[in-house]
Amino acid sequence: MANLETIVSLAKRRGFVFPGSDVYGGLAGTWDYGPLGTLLKENIKKEWWASMLEPHIYPLDSAIISTKKVWEASGHLEHFSDPLVECKKCKKRFRADHIDGDNCPECKGELGKAREFNMMFKTHAGAVEDESAEAYLRPETAQGIFINFKNVVDAFHPKMPFGIAQIGKAFRNEITPRNFLFRAREFEQMELEYFCDPKNADQYFSDIREMRMKWFLKLGIKEKNIKFYDNTEDERSHYSVATTDILYNYGISDDGFEELEGIANRTDYDLKNHFPGHNWTGEDFLEDKDGFVPYIIEPSLGVDRAFLAFMMDAYDEDEIGGERRVVLRLHPKLAPFKVAVFPLVKNKEEIVGKAKEVFDDLRKKFMCRWDDSGNVGKRYRRQDEIGTPWCVTIDYETLEEGTVTVRDRDTAKQERIKTEDLNSYFQEKLS
Ligand code: ATP
Repeated sequence: MANLETIVSLAKRRGFVFPGSDVYGGLAGTWDYGPLGTLLKENIKKEWWASMLEPHIYPLDSAIISTKKVWEASGHLEHFSDPLVECKKCKKRFRADHIDGDNCPECKGELGKAREFNMMFKTHAGAVEDESAEAYLRPETAQGIFINFKNVVDAFHPKMPFGIAQIGKAFRNEITPRNFLFRAREFEQMELEYFCDPKNADQYFSDIREMRMKWFLKLGIKEKNIKFYDNTEDERSHYSVATTDILYNYGISDDGFEELEGIANRTDYDLKNHFPGHNWTGEDFLEDKDGFVPYIIEPSLGVDRAFLAFMMDAYDEDEIGGERRVVLRLHPKLAPFKVAVFPLVKNKEEIVGKAKEVFDDLRKKFMCRWDDSGNVGKRYRRQDEIGTPWCVTIDYETLEEGTVTVRDRDTAKQERIKTEDLNSYFQEKLS
């Protein structure tokens, strides 16, 4: 496992993640995903959707910007704040709960009194900047789901329990964004809101907790680097009666473990806020004639924190044939490229032509990369570092025997495979 600096540097060098507004000196807490980062991130989201989309789970893509009323009702205008302190000497601002001691961590000056700082980004929708035009960038995707609850119910008449799932950007004006993607001001969330009968809520909470942990393990996160943490009453948000975090060993805090995903029993708090006085009965969607306000179980995962965890967990350095290498042992389903195709030499037309043929055929099904520069050993190293699970080399034997060399990223083992079997070979490996 790597430390944060190693990952930040690899991410920039190989085109996974760049600092936001980089050419203008940067904008703290924002990051631009480069070509490889975009692919890795898409694959993470694809796997999340694959684990969510059952017949009783409905996808949603709600607006990022919404009226102030949403945030009044949700409690965010009142509660969504962090304690802020300002140094009287250097005027720098810090999160009070992130500071050890009573003095400024930068200049040791005296700190002022802590006050609550609301973390939402406010803007105005339209040309008039008065209070009626006030709008906010969402600090979580969840509220977009809650305010569409009735719309989904009216359109689909689902039976209990059912879920609504969404992936999208969220914005928080973090006082001190830091630790790369871990604490950003613009980030992305993958959230499921699972609506259920309050009497079954504990059971679904525990099932969803297990389901989420399995997802990480299946995608290759090492067991020793991930664990559950049950929040105490003091640590829970005001709407929650039970919260379990899934922590990952990012190596940031003293014991190394930090929140990767939060799973909460949000009770009927949100639906009561947005639909006050509404009695959900059989007419809406319930079999129960008496009706009740559903409870909500919510697993909420930051795409960027997942991205960072997968990168850190996959990072490895080892030695192959007496040579040191960096290898990203990403799960093949997450790897930006599945296969890299190399012509052994650049100047032999038949080899290059055959390699192009193989490349064009494979890229219909798999994300593929072409590389013809430098010796094959160097090309392997380049692909190892970005996590490409397999490299295919087209050589003289290909022309005579119709076979190619397939080299495995993790074991560095090579085998000869018939050109016409390549598709099914990789299909099988990826299934
Ligand atoms: P923290 O205590 O670390 O600030 P939180 O408890 O406020 O996190 P939630 O409100 O539960 O976080 O958000 C759900 C998920 O969204 C988190 O588990 C995390 O993966 C992600 N997330 C939250 N804030 C950020 C951020 N500033 N940058 C990146 N991801 C974030």
